[in-house]
Amino acid sequence: MAQHNVTFIPGDGIGPEVSAAARRCVEATGIDIVFEEVNAGAETLEKTGRLLPDSVSESIKKNKTAIKGPITTPVGSGFRSVNVALRKAHDLYACVRPCKSYEGVRSRYENIDLVIVRENTEDLYAGIEFEVGRPETGKLIEQIKALGAGSIRSDSGISIKPISIYGTRRIVKFAFEYALAHKRRKVTAVHKANIMKYTDGLFLSVAREVAKEYASRIEFEDRIVDNMCMQLVQRPEAFDVIVLPNLYGDIISDLCAGLVGGLGVAPGANIGETIALFEATHGSAPKYKGLNKVNPAAMILSAVLMLDYLKEKKAAQMLEQATAEVFKEGKAVTYDFKENRDDTSAVGTKEMADAIIAKIKKKR
Ligand code: NAD
Repeated sequence: MAQHNVTFIPGDGIGPEVSAAARRCVEATGIDIVFEEVNAGAETLEKTGRLLPDSVSESIKKNKTAIKGPITTPVGSGFRSVNVALRKAHDLYACVRPCKSYEGVRSRYENIDLVIVRENTEDLYAGIEFEVGRPETGKLIEQIKALGAGSIRSDSGISIKPISIYGTRRIVKFAFEYALAHKRRKVTAVHKANIMKYTDGLFLSVAREVAKEYASRIEFEDRIVDNMCMQLVQRPEAFDVIVLPNLYGDIISDLCAGLVGGLGVAPGANIGETIALFEATHGSAPKYKGLNKVNPAAMILSAVLMLDYLKEKKAAQMLEQATAEVFKEGKAVTYDFKENRDDTSAVGTKEMADAIIAKIKKKR
């Protein structure tokens, strides 16, 4: 296998601790990988005056694969999220979040194995917003009235929900290709097409068209988003790969993370045509910064996704199995795995990674 060059972004808050844990676990698999370290976020802003230095995007463009710790979004300072900026800059249109049950991770459910494929660039998340009271908002309200499209109260704020044929086709195709590559049986498209006919309705009709291309290989169905929430809670085993527009994807991926034990074990990937960025679903939890306390598993499972993406299937399997064994034994795990959060037998972030590395070494 060729050498892999990967951009490594430690992040801030708990980011450096959990990303170091993931990096050490990847290195322990013995694959030929070189990490190029660059950073972004609040601490980088203090040091360099830039929240997202150019070196980060340059490194990602060069290496095509990146793994990133969480990054704090400064509140009320006019800064946009670095995370969103990176997804936009590299057109990482597919957010993939597998939600899988592991023995030893406390949850109300068992045997869950779902994959959320969320569209990452369109929908109400596109950031096209009109603030209440501004002249342009007033103009838009007048235009909408003049076009006979409806009346909007003058004291309204407005967010625009664009959903395109192009954006829908590529995300639904991505979901089917993912299903094929990972030997999945079914894709479920989620929408509210009965109410939002021209956006969600378009999403559904394009999804149905794409599904026809895969009809002999992968089953397809659709669900209205509210019904989907109920069904996921009542019988999550009925679903497999779930493809959704941006906002529903955001909400339902958290619901599904809740089915399998929460943020501590929820990995993620943001994938584009040629570039992919792997990161945990959770944020930078600043109050735990530097305490060697938080759970590195979401970041380590994100590294498993990265290894799978890099076609290092054996290393991916080895790392996932080693992590699952540590969960199952329940000994070298962080406080959040414990029934009582003050349980003194909990280990630190680094020690949990050490236990996973020890298992990997036995497997090699
Ligand atoms: P958060 O996920 O950082 O933390 C919420 C709570 O979840 C924490 O207080 C902690 O109790 C728990 N938690 C999170 N990760 C954990 C872990 N690995 N182990 C154990 N417990 C864990 O969410 P927040 O407080 O809303 O956000 C903090 C900052 O992170 C914000 O600035 C936000 O913008 C940013 N953020 C970044 C990303 C990203 O980098 N992709 C994602 C979400 C939030």
